[in-house]
Amino acid sequence: MLLIAGLLLAGCGARADAAAHTRTVLAMDTVMTLTAYGENADAALAAAETEIRRLDALLARGEPESAVYALNHNGYLDADSGGEVEALLTLAAELADATDGAFDPTVALLLELWGFGGGAEKHRVPSPEELDVARSFVGMGHVHRSADGQSVTLDLPAQIDFGGVAKGFTGARAIEILRERGVTGATLDLGGDVALLGAKPDGSAWRVAVRDPADGEAYLGVLETAGDVFVMTSGVYERYFEENGVRYHHILDPKTGRPADSGLVSATVVCADGAWADALATACCVLGEDGALALRAHLADTTPFDLILVTDDARVRCTTEAFAPETGNGYTYELIG
Ligand code: ADP
Ligand code: MG
Repeated sequence: MLLIAGLLLAGCGARADAAAHTRTVLAMDTVMTLTAYGENADAALAAAETEIRRLDALLARGEPESAVYALNHNGYLDADSGGEVEALLTLAAELADATDGAFDPTVALLLELWGFGGGAEKHRVPSPEELDVARSFVGMGHVHRSADGQSVTLDLPAQIDFGGVAKGFTGARAIEILRERGVTGATLDLGGDVALLGAKPDGSAWRVAVRDPADGEAYLGVLETAGDVFVMTSGVYERYFEENGVRYHHILDPKTGRPADSGLVSATVVCADGAWADALATACCVLGEDGALALRAHLADTTPFDLILVTDDARVRCTTEAFAPETGNGYTYELIG
């Protein structure tokens, strides 16, 4: 009976498909789980996966076939592959500007020196002299975009890395593809970062668990939100190595050339723009508590966003009442008005 009712309802076409359709994608060094509701969800998810794979192949710094690899090795990208990378560099320049250089994709040369990303990991602590030389090639001033927006030149040995923005940028593209194909609700788990589209079939709010930076199995609390929003987290616990008992992580402060030492262990940004959400989360880890809140105030009119910050002395500071913290986990929680 139920099956028949289901078929009849599906056949009448007016009712949205309430079933969740999912797809798992291994891309951008992580496991992504894409879930969509609505008509055409399966076909739409397949199209989203294709786009995710295309952007992964275009942007991966360590992939010899990628456009970013070509730019980093030749110092030049022409219109064929350059157009899209050029657009991303224009966005990156805006982001670098807005964050006073805390987010900067030319941090790549420093990442290379520390042995993060870019292929085989060869972690080591660079000397102060090496860091000084590399830092002189950090800054968007070393990236030159042609007036027609079709090509890019790079002052080698300056390098580009889109690791701090790629997931947000790609998630936003995937969401657009789902929307265009009639999907009415979707959650894209991009490996701890989440993109939300529209509404659940039953109209209830989305609930996004925010990870406890100290414990991969636990969560800090749950964010309840409507769709069309990105919840992006950057944390210094994601990738690191240890040498002589000191931990060195993968979010670098472009100003010092060293792993950010801002007092924050993670920053979660809730924002309507995916690329901005991702980059702002990375930037906030560099800027620290006060810097992150100042950045939020600075961007209030152009790119409003909410923050959930976790400090290295176990404080959680949050700018939205939509976040319900877990209790009894050792964190003190403060809602910032
Ligand atoms: P993930 O969620 O994958 O950990 P994040 O958004 O936290 O990614 O970004 C971390 C990545 O961003 C690093 O692995 C590196 O590729 C890049 N990155 C590190 N520091 C910076 C920085 N200051 N500005 C821009 N990108 C950075
Ligand atoms: Mg980021």
